Amino acid sequence: MSSNHPDVVIVGAGGSGLAAAVSCAENGLSVLVLEACAQPGGTTGIAVGSFTAAATEFQRQQGIEDSADLHALDLVSFAPAEIESHNNETQRTLFTNHAAKTLSWLQTHGIQFVGPAAEPPNTQPRMHNVIPGAKAYIARLQLAARKLGVKILPNATVQRLLTNGRCVSGVEYENGSGSLQTRRAKYGVVLAAGDYANNPELIKRFKGPGYENIEGINPHARGLGHLLAESVGAKLINMDITYGPELRFIATARRPFQQWLPTTGPLAKLQHWIARGLPEWIFQTIIKRLLVTWQHPEDALFEQGAVLINENGERFCNEKDATTRNIAVSNQTNKQAYILMGPLQVSKFSQWPHFISTAPDIAYAYTDDYLRLRPDICTKFHTLADLAKTKHINRKRLTNTVNEAFNETLGPWVLLGPVKSYFTTTEGSPSINADLQVLREDNSVIDGLYAVGQCGLNGMILWSHGCHIAWAMTSGRLVGKVIAQNVKV
Ligand SMILES: Cc1cc2nc3c(=O)[nH]c(=O)nc-3n(C[C@H](O)[C@H](O)[C@H](O)COP(=O)(O)OP(=O)(O)OC[C@H]3O[C@@H](n4cnc5c(N)ncnc54)[C@H](O)[C@@H]3O)c2cc1C
Repeated sequence: MSSNHPDVVIVGAGGSGLAAAVSCAENGLSVLVLEACAQPGGTTGIAVGSFTAAATEFQRQQGIEDSADLHALDLVSFAPAEIESHNNETQRTLFTNHAAKTLSWLQTHGIQFVGPAAEPPNTQPRMHNVIPGAKAYIARLQLAARKLGVKILPNATVQRLLTNGRCVSGVEYENGSGSLQTRRAKYGVVLAAGDYANNPELIKRFKGPGYENIEGINPHARGLGHLLAESVGAKLINMDITYGPELRFIATARRPFQQWLPTTGPLAKLQHWIARGLPEWIFQTIIKRLLVTWQHPEDALFEQGAVLINENGERFCNEKDATTRNIAVSNQTNKQAYILMGPLQVSKFSQWPHFISTAPDIAYAYTDDYLRLRPDICTKFHTLADLAKTKHINRKRLTNTVNEAFNETLGPWVLLGPVKSYFTTTEGSPSINADLQVLREDNSVIDGLYAVGQCGLNGMILWSHGCHIAWAMTSGRLVGKVIAQNVKV
């Protein structure tokens, strides 16, 4: 390719951007990918990696009868009715219709899965889990892209879309050393820039005040793609809908063990072969480890009397109300708090049906699991004095809090945290048509501009596990085809 004038410029090297790059190149287009961070990956790279799809080869091999229509029907039951009422059904049906093909396409690029696992209220098991973790998408797609001649430029943040009349014709980006560069794109610019979970201005503008102290799990999810689209007149939809906020434990300083496992090469192949034959209990152990790494504490903890305390040992909100507690935690010192469990909760949350976190029907994590697997965020104390001393909390204030909140004064006490309030992802995006072309307020096409992944959700509500990645990959795969078709490569 002429490096100054690639056929397609892709903004972002996360899951959707890399899938788009591979697909564009497979369809005969020359591609330049610009990535703001030092490494490709985005939110995709820190995800668990589940990919939900119906009527897959994996399901057929296990005799599971399923269809894209049934998947679309089941998806209605995941989000609360008030959120689900904003769903774009046509778009979500397009997604469920293409997801299985995308899974097979990813396999042709060496990405390996196990499953499918059940995830109610899905009526069929359709959650496929990538081996060894979501980093495999990034490693494998990068490899495929480079083999196909795609150029990936890190530390390149796209600041502005260039236009020619009403058509998008290229980008202006800042390179690592702070200077501005331009690149024209012959056939199109693809926005694959992820979500805006960590853009307080966008969150405040669309969700209203109160949420602006709440962070996104991925600090780089700044909604730059949404802003770029808006700058050329795109219509933004469902921008007030967010996945979260919810309380999550601060991530472990250690890399989760599956991130050490190889994603490419013979060892990765061996690992996949072993994984398919592994007994269920080993999977349960792996999944439990993931659970205590990423999942959020259940509301039931607060319903059953656990309380939130800040770094001074004081209670600061009505924990039973989710919105109140999420906002209140974000307003504490360091935007964090702790969950204090008294003896009653410690014993209750040690067995079914009282668990601290879960991936429903797959695994449940109890107090002992947290004590064992996350000693960095879960400690048991026999006395309040011990707790106050170890955690440097004012003993008198803590004692007052406990006297007011609990009927017991004797331990054991379990302190969980710190917890923070986080947005996992956001569901708003530019509006697009069936060819993934970005639309204006009046629904006319902005020629030369496409959007994929979290930047191209087009009103879909994707609240079941595994659908966001499935859409990131599916939209990336499709955009290469449509651009090539539109320009008849
Ligand atoms: C902890 C966690 C676990 C999750 N687990 C799952 C899961 O198991 N299954 C699932 O389906 N979903 C999961 N999700 C959600 C899912 O991972 C994401 O929604 C999806 O991967 C987003 O893909 P994307 O390509 O749209 O964005 P990203 O992967 O975030 O990629 C966007 C890229 O664009 C870059 N970028 C942004 N702006 C610019 C710019 N102006 N110029 C250049 N580059 C730019 C970013 O740096 C980033 O690399 C999880 C999310 C979180 C936070």
